[in-house]
Amino acid sequence: MSFQKTLTKVAEFKGIGVHKGKDVVLRVFPAPVDCGYLLKRSDLDSSLVPMLAGKVAATSMATTMGGDGFTVSTVEHALAAANALELDNLIFEVDGPEFPILDGSSKDFIQGFEKAGILPQQQPKNYIVVKEKIEFSDGDKLASIEPYLGFRIQAEIDFPHPAIGFQSLELEITPYNFKNQISSARTFGFMKDVELLRSKGLALGGSMDNAIVLDEKNILNPNGLRYKDEFIRHKILDAVGDIATLGQPIRGFLKLEKAGHDLMNKLVLKLGEKSKSWTEKAMVY
Ligand SMILES: [Zn+2]
Repeated sequence: MSFQKTLTKVAEFKGIGVHKGKDVVLRVFPAPVDCGYLLKRSDLDSSLVPMLAGKVAATSMATTMGGDGFTVSTVEHALAAANALELDNLIFEVDGPEFPILDGSSKDFIQGFEKAGILPQQQPKNYIVVKEKIEFSDGDKLASIEPYLGFRIQAEIDFPHPAIGFQSLELEITPYNFKNQISSARTFGFMKDVELLRSKGLALGGSMDNAIVLDEKNILNPNGLRYKDEFIRHKILDAVGDIATLGQPIRGFLKLEKAGHDLMNKLVLKLGEKSKSWTEKAMVY
């Protein structure tokens, strides 16, 4: 039997927010059993909001969540780390409108959570077990989830850019695999988009310190890539974060073709609607 987990003590992350460009502090606290992930804006003394797909307010550029009169952007890289480490109950408190971007990956979140320590709790985990295939498409984008004993992702992207092109990867999502094969993959952006984004007050904190930056032909970061297929690895990272908005660990096989936060949100909402009959308590493998 698997038991729920939280942190042993608070984990703290300080850094710039990629969109507003301001320094923010994120504190992640241990939480009691059956809480799931809760979100609070400490600067606004907001209420605690469950970090569920139904609370997603926007999906362009990043996953933005909100509650009564507040939003928090770019939550997915921290959620990915929490989900991949099989943490169930946490309170995320941030003193600004977005989580710190750190290096653009989940690496520092994984390290911070592991340093704080992972604490098993006295309550069995509740999984959402996929019993039948669900599929969403939008043009040539596709996201589906189907029955599977563990949690597995197969993803592919195809960017008409000489440094990216077609990339495909399939991986079992375990703490070990995520940490070693996915967690260091950074987000990416194109120079040609930066001016437009900045005119909208976005990407003000974006730089080569927290993203892979590409011009028309090349990768501009002086040290290049961390993995030769870092782009598809980051797509999988984002999906692990977005699927955490289901509110419970998943047992299923997720397949993504060019899909981003938007399709993931639709898929998770649909899964959530159907999940009651699919939840099996205290599954044993
Ligand atoms: Zn991302």
